[in-house]
Amino acid sequence: MSNHLFDAFRSAARPDTPFIKTPDGRVWTYADMLDFSGRLASALQQRGVRPGDRVAVQVEKSAEALMLYLACIRAGAVYLPLNIAYTLAELDYFISDAAPRLVVVSPGAQAGVQPVAVRYGAEVETLDDAGGGSLIDLAKNASPAFADVACGPDDLAAILYTSGTTGRSKGAMLTHDNLLSNAQTLVRYWRFTSADRLIHALPIFHTHGLFVASNVVLLSGASMYFLPKFDANEVLRLMGEATSMMGVPTFYVRLVGHPGLTREAAAGMRLFVSGSAPLLADTHRAFSEKTGHAILERYGMTETNMNTSNPYDGDRVPGTVGFPLPGISLRVTDPENGKQLPDGQTGMIEIKGPNVFKGYWRMPEKTMSEFRADGYFITGDLGMIDPRGYVHIVGRGKDLVISGGYNIYPKEVETEIDQIDGVVESAVIGVPHPDFGEGVTAVVIRQPGAAIDEGAILAALADRLARYKQPKRILFLEELPRNTMGKVQKNILRERYKAIYD
Ligand code: ATP
Ligand code: MG
Repeated sequence: MSNHLFDAFRSAARPDTPFIKTPDGRVWTYADMLDFSGRLASALQQRGVRPGDRVAVQVEKSAEALMLYLACIRAGAVYLPLNIAYTLAELDYFISDAAPRLVVVSPGAQAGVQPVAVRYGAEVETLDDAGGGSLIDLAKNASPAFADVACGPDDLAAILYTSGTTGRSKGAMLTHDNLLSNAQTLVRYWRFTSADRLIHALPIFHTHGLFVASNVVLLSGASMYFLPKFDANEVLRLMGEATSMMGVPTFYVRLVGHPGLTREAAAGMRLFVSGSAPLLADTHRAFSEKTGHAILERYGMTETNMNTSNPYDGDRVPGTVGFPLPGISLRVTDPENGKQLPDGQTGMIEIKGPNVFKGYWRMPEKTMSEFRADGYFITGDLGMIDPRGYVHIVGRGKDLVISGGYNIYPKEVETEIDQIDGVVESAVIGVPHPDFGEGVTAVVIRQPGAAIDEGAILAALADRLARYKQPKRILFLEELPRNTMGKVQKNILRERYKAIYD
């Protein structure tokens, strides 16, 4: 029987090739992948998981956890990974919202999760980070000869919750073809082959580590080094054996600050990809000065997988996310009326293509309001297309500051502040203001020992920005609040400073 996504993985799988290597020296070949995902799929069926059922998974990163994703695909179930940082109260929301048949957690979390699962009619099994747990025991005794459940291009493969950067996480329904079409495109665009060995230090509950990295590896029959988390020393050591890495900007910031990052250290690598949050142009430049490699920045989101990418061969332009990927249409529209804007103007980024999700799980109204009548998805990101066709992300619609009736794009102000001596980075937010509606407010991180103060920054901005864009206050922090994907949590900043103009 045909299973749209897994058939493609299966045809790329050469049995003796390593698929995953872990730091403890374990190697999973593609034969092991087929065997173990088959056993896990059999175990899922034994536990009553039927096609279309959700399997919610909140476990530490491990090769077994990735096999569970594949087992769900083979069993026609809907894989639903959850951030390991979520508390029991948050888990309660996700379990009630997603109504899974089975919840898989670490053994330590079982006692707490059990009553929640029972309340919503779900069963619980465990999986730990060392390859043990009740689900693994079931799988070891189950048959590896699993007949994959028939699944078409439009069947659901996963529900992936968004990162919750701008509000409560939404469950994005992703089909077999959403995942397959995007992975196929990325394999070609980024030239992945079975000779690739990818450094994988990302979490696997998020689209970047789960779909972008893992699906690209699976579809090209390549190998990956699976690290539990980012560790600069370990990554630098692996660069001697690997060919490629996918990371969030924070990885690159840390590598650039490490004395071990040299031309020699990165000599065997062919590709460094960055995404999930904006990569500072400074980091891009510093990395290429030290290694000779231009980081390839791309742009995507949970709802759409990857939308744009800097080119493999052409210029990888710092501060841009490159071109729309083949088969994907991107346009910029006026956020007020949805009319398409000419290139060069900033507006709402909208996307259409086989990568775009089916809708938000159990949120039909929200889904309706985020799609245009002609099928374009309204991303919520503001951006601009430059004369060479490169897409620039200016920030999120929700972060736009409206002060005294003027629109202020935080990125423009941040870019100016970041250039001032003594400043590491900044975040510009809008905070309620009695006269202006919102007051432009900058939160600044200084270099260690830098003495620059509010007055000096305001003075430096005075001839660089129109008056209405100039911050009313500059506040200093030791570091910006970031989530696990390195995204700056502006909602936390807005909350913290909401009363400063009272
Ligand atoms: P939520 O939708 O719940 O508020 P989120 O949008 O952060 O959370 P994700 O789907 O993980 O959840 O992130 C997608 C967003 O990340 C994009 O909409 C965009 O704002 C940002 N992003 C991804 N890649 C880049 C990039 N290269 N440059 C700038 N922003 C990026
Ligand atoms: Mg989002």
